[in-house]
Amino acid sequence: MGIVTTAETGSAIFAFDNTYARELEGYYVPWTPATVPGPQLVKLNEGLARELGLDPGALAAAEGVKILAGNSVPAGATPIAQAYAGHQFGQFSPQLGDGRALLLGEIIDRQGQRRDIAFKGSGPTPFSRRGDGKCALGAALREYLVGEAMAALGIPTTRTLAVVSTGETIRRERPLPGAILTRVAASHLRVGTFEYFAAHKGPEAVRKLADYAIRRHYPELAAAELPYLELLKAVAVRQAELVARWLGVGFIHGVMNTDNMTISGETIDYGPCAFIEAYHPRTVFSSIDATGRYAYGQQASIARWNLARFAETLLSLIDTDADRAVAAATGVLDAFPEQHAACWLGVMRAKLGLSAEPADDAGDQALTDDFLTLLQRGRIDFTKAFRALYDLARGKTDAISPLVPLADFAAWRQRWQARQPERSDTLLAAMQGANPCYIPRNHRLEAALDAAVDDGDLQPFERLLAVVEHPFDERAADADFAEPAPPEVTACYQTFCGT
Ligand code: AMP
Ligand code: MG
Repeated sequence: MGIVTTAETGSAIFAFDNTYARELEGYYVPWTPATVPGPQLVKLNEGLARELGLDPGALAAAEGVKILAGNSVPAGATPIAQAYAGHQFGQFSPQLGDGRALLLGEIIDRQGQRRDIAFKGSGPTPFSRRGDGKCALGAALREYLVGEAMAALGIPTTRTLAVVSTGETIRRERPLPGAILTRVAASHLRVGTFEYFAAHKGPEAVRKLADYAIRRHYPELAAAELPYLELLKAVAVRQAELVARWLGVGFIHGVMNTDNMTISGETIDYGPCAFIEAYHPRTVFSSIDATGRYAYGQQASIARWNLARFAETLLSLIDTDADRAVAAATGVLDAFPEQHAACWLGVMRAKLGLSAEPADDAGDQALTDDFLTLLQRGRIDFTKAFRALYDLARGKTDAISPLVPLADFAAWRQRWQARQPERSDTLLAAMQGANPCYIPRNHRLEAALDAAVDDGDLQPFERLLAVVEHPFDERAADADFAEPAPPEVTACYQTFCGT
């Protein structure tokens, strides 16, 4: 298989057990990270390290930093560039793959879960096309911070173990410091991974991949009568839930290409993502999303579109009869909108502090829609408005102020109170946990990244991180972090991909 030899490192920092490299030969290219001139640890995620059963001290020591910079391949690692394809903005790219990433290997965390340890920015690979294989420091820190915020919000996500600056200057629109990020994921299997093998290798290669995905993420399906149809269903369920959770915190992924949709159901790839401020479903921040394909309110239908691409790769495994396969897959895809709507209503019930019993789906749906319509008309900050509802529900008398500008709020409030006159502590706790006080506000994040990149000042980053790591408890000292940017700042705000 030509596995890259491991370096002569002493004590093992990672106890690797690399199933992807071992079981899926031919699905990747063994590769070595580039050597970088001046590695420096910028940020280590000590909490995540401990969760993974790793020693933060060892990672922060000289040998650990050499490993996190790609200058030393740790014992047991089998670094590989994974092959994948993908639909980008609706167009099929038959060969994407890890052009600036490498999977080092897998470890088992303290909960017994298998997690990928992967680099991003570790140099060119056979999949780099015209790219330099590098990652800018600001982009790495953005992925770190938003990933941690999402994790704290309770949303399934890949996370960052460390960011190391490389001592290199990389060329983007302007020269930028280079960095390597170490990403932790349930796996890096994407819809695009299936597309690659369906396009280039045929059904038996897809079957092998699907069997691997089932073993790794959906072991309960192994014995199913129709395991590949069940796999499609299971991935659809996780995506329905994931997107509902995104919507609940105002998250806009920004680049929901099929190569950025995981089979595990984790959020991946924090490139041009952003959080909605004044509520409008057509909100887009990504500079490359000219048509609003990946706008806030489009995300569920895009998830379904992506699942259709996934389904296509599985058709011949679902049924040898093509018509029956299409009918079965279509059934799953057609169920998706309702499935997602149910997840979304669950999220919104929690946000509005409504108990599920007695069930009144249509009434709760209307109550939610009407509140969102008020927000949209009044151009009210999504996060603040929902938090204000929570504050009202717990009897905080000054909480009304963000909502007062809303025309017709009083009438809506009466309906809301009539729907749920009393709230148990459980319901209030759920409401608190669904309505964060602090999200990574776009302008705060940009300011933190600018300070880190332009001035080498990590203080604003650390401060913002500390805030978003505890999103649900209001703190007087952090009041500024709950505030949206001035509308004129948000109006000009754009995010950029691939930096
Ligand atoms: P992303 O936009 O990060 O999801 O990446 C989409 C595709 O472009 C993947 O195949 C990446 O590996 C590749 N890519 C993005 N940036 C670079 C880069 N700087 N060098 C090489 N490949 C890249
Ligand atoms: Mg990607």
